[in-house]
Amino acid sequence: MRPPIDQDDESLHTTFAPRFSPGGTDIEELARLVEVMRAHGATTVKLPGEMVFVWEGKRPLERDAAAAASGYSPINFAKGGVRPVKLCSAETFCQRFKQPVLGLAEELERRFADRETGGAKVVIGVAGCQRSCSEPATKDIGIVAGGEGYKIMVGGMNGFRPRIATPLMTVATGEEVVAVVDAVLDYVAAHGDFMNRLGALVDRNGIEPLAAWVAQRTGERTAP
Ligand code: SF4
Repeated sequence: MRPPIDQDDESLHTTFAPRFSPGGTDIEELARLVEVMRAHGATTVKLPGEMVFVWEGKRPLERDAAAAASGYSPINFAKGGVRPVKLCSAETFCQRFKQPVLGLAEELERRFADRETGGAKVVIGVAGCQRSCSEPATKDIGIVAGGEGYKIMVGGMNGFRPRIATPLMTVATGEEVVAVVDAVLDYVAAHGDFMNRLGALVDRNGIEPLAAWVAQRTGERTAP
């Protein structure tokens, strides 16, 4: 059983999560909120998902100018490819993590954001413990930290044919996770297409060819 959280522990973080409308918020209200938080010493914002700025009407020139001025690359929701890594609150904001996952998620994002997938959409989810707050069992590649290392699952998705991910293997280190994800994305690029997610591939071919592909490239053969 975990010991109770020590509220005097200086390594703990204090958080406040305002409840927004599902439809988003006015940009002036967002600016006001950020100012209030900054004035009271908040330093970081954890984003639960993509932040989408909205213009009224079709204004592609302003949109493109704003995107260029922002210094951020856009997410193209209409295309396949690797979507931004979904991460739970992780060790920065949650004391329940079994292994650190923040640096791992950032490394996966840095390494694979622009990875060619043959047009297939790939969502990666990372969770610091089995509670799975980032819902990795519904992601194409799901990673769950546990006491023994990192459990890797493949083929999860929602949509028209929801599917719970199939366990692939458990590895001991974050470096091994990156190597396995690298190999799985190679497999997707070689066998996937725009219409088919990894789960459809696994249903069609079974998990064994993918497991053998990963083992050949990484040497990872740990049982799920
Ligand atoms: S998955 Fe675990 S570590 Fe991550 S936010 Fe949820 S409870 Fe915390």
